[in-house]
Parts: sequence; C-alpha cells; structure tokens
Amino acid sequence: TPPTLEIRNVTKTYSVKQGLMGKRKPLTAVRDVSLSLRKGEVLGLVGESGCGKSTLAKILLGLEAPTSGQVLVDGQALGGQNRLELARRIQPIFQDPYSSLNPRKSIADIISLPLRIHGIGDAASQQKAVRDMLDVVGLPARVMNSYPSQMSGGQRQRVAIARALIMKPEVVICDEPTSALDVSVQSQILNLLGELRREFGLTYLFISHNLAVVEHLATRVAVMYLGRIVEETNTGDLFDASAHPYTQALLKSVLTPEPGLGVPDTQLGMAYPNPIDPPSGCAFHPRCPRATDLCKQRAPRPVPMRDGHVECHLHDPETPMFERS
Ligand code: SF4
Ligand code: MG
Repeated sequence: TPPTLEIRNVTKTYSVKQGLMGKRKPLTAVRDVSLSLRKGEVLGLVGESGCGKSTLAKILLGLEAPTSGQVLVDGQALGGQNRLELARRIQPIFQDPYSSLNPRKSIADIISLPLRIHGIGDAASQQKAVRDMLDVVGLPARVMNSYPSQMSGGQRQRVAIARALIMKPEVVICDEPTSALDVSVQSQILNLLGELRREFGLTYLFISHNLAVVEHLATRVAVMYLGRIVEETNTGDLFDASAHPYTQALLKSVLTPEPGLGVPDTQLGMAYPNPIDPPSGCAFHPRCPRATDLCKQRAPRPVPMRDGHVECHLHDPETPMFERS
C-alpha cells in the first residue's frame, strides 16, 4: 500500500525583502525534501524555528503550493480539483489556540464550521456531532455556548482538536500543538492526542522544536535543518544512537535543566544561520563540532541508514577516510 501522504522532491522558495530598503532575495525554506507518512504512524518532525517545518506542514495541507516537486495522497498526485477532498482527509491543529479560534464565534460554531463548509448534515446533526466531539476531547457540553476568551489555553486547544476531528480525518498535522501551553497542560494534551490516535486509528505528523515532546508520541522522527531532512529513523534509534551531529546536539539540549525552551546556544555554539544566505557545503558546518574542510566545500548526500537516512559525510562510505575524522 502506498503511503497515506507523501511529498517527493519538494522545494519551496519565497522571495523576501531584506530590511526596508533591501532588494528582494530568494529564500529556500524547503530544499528537495521527500517524506512519507505511513498509515497509523506518528512522524515527528523536529527542528529549530526557521528550519522550514511549518512550510512543509502548509504544503502537506495544500495551503501552499510547492515551487517544485509533488504532493501525493494515496499515491495520487495532488491537483487543484481535489483540494476539498484533501481538506476533509487531512486536518490541522496549530500551535496557538488563541489566534486560530475566531474570538467572535461560539465554541459550537467554531467546532461545526468544517461541517458547514463541506455541507455535511443538517443543523441538528451538526449540533449532535459537536456534542459528541466535546465529549471525545474531554470538555463538558455546556461550553458549546461559550466563547474562546472564556476558556483556558488547554481548553482552547481541546476545541481546536475537536474542530479537526469532527471531519473524521485520516491524517492530522499538528504544528507545535502544545508549545503555547503551560508545561502541566502540555502533557494532558499530548496524552489526549495519543488516546485519540489509538481510538480513531489516526496518522499524525507531529511538528515540534522540542525533541522531548516528540519522544512521547512519535514512532519515527525526521530532523530538519535549513530546509533539509538531515536524519530520519525510528524513534528508538534516534534517541539511543543518533547518527547526525545536529541530532546529537539537539538531544544534549533536551537534557539541559530547561527543557522546552528550544535549543540553548551553549549547546550549539552559535545562532541559527540565516536561510537567505545559507552556509556553503554542509549547512550545519559552522555549528558542527565534527566539521572538516570537506564539509565546508561539499554538501553531504543522504545515505540510507537503519530504516531511514542520514545526511552527513561521517556516515557516507564514499567520503574518503582521511576526510572523515
Ligand atoms: Fe558536521 Fe560535516 Fe557531518 Fe555536516 S557533514 S554534520 S559539518 S560532520
Ligand atoms: Mg513554525
């Protein structure tokens, strides 16, 4: 069976202005990325802010068109004509439930909106579906007539989950779904997402800057750096024996006393590079403790490893030995 959702050789380039008087320059947010989501899995997509993970999410949701490359659903290339069908089967949950819920609409209106957009059922059946969904996400039926401002952050994210699931999607794309929440509420939402996945047989793409959050849910992890997936493998191998120096640095940062605060510069040495002007060769080389002259000159290619791949000269058998360590 083909993967539920797949992207092949996707590149996305934006034209951005640097400063007020600046000239427009191309910014490649996603660079020739291939990724597949298999039925029932939770693929964690991890990387620092600006690595291209949200752009990838928007492309998978059909909200942005790739500059080149393909999006495939059940092995079929996605064209404009089945956007609506795609929107039914693939639903998003975004980071910030404060901005993604319309403050002027009641919770019942917010959750039932996808049904109304797609013309599914009459008003009475839509109301029943809302009540059922509130129960599924652990909210009392009386919040139907409340407004987002009357709810806590965790409750709002439950509303966003209910809105996503009311369409009975197969795939849910969660973009930093707990990053705006208090730590105590984060684990409740993660547990809920895990339960819902088992109950409804959902497939997740779970995007986070925080490896510790991903470890909780993901069955497979892809690590992104400056628009490339530099390492991808099953969650166990990634946490026990990561191969890429960037993944190793991220893992170290997870073990610092302040998890959840992103990647402290003390671990990675220097700030994230500007994607408008990426470093030569391996884009990670300015921050990599293992970098050699070769790394500055030549970009590594993806090398198959375990059930995924790694993109680093250290693991490429064709890289000359004397250059490798
Ligand atoms: Fe580091 Fe070189 Fe590997 Fe890039 S290719 S991650 S710079 S060792
Ligand atoms: Mg983002």
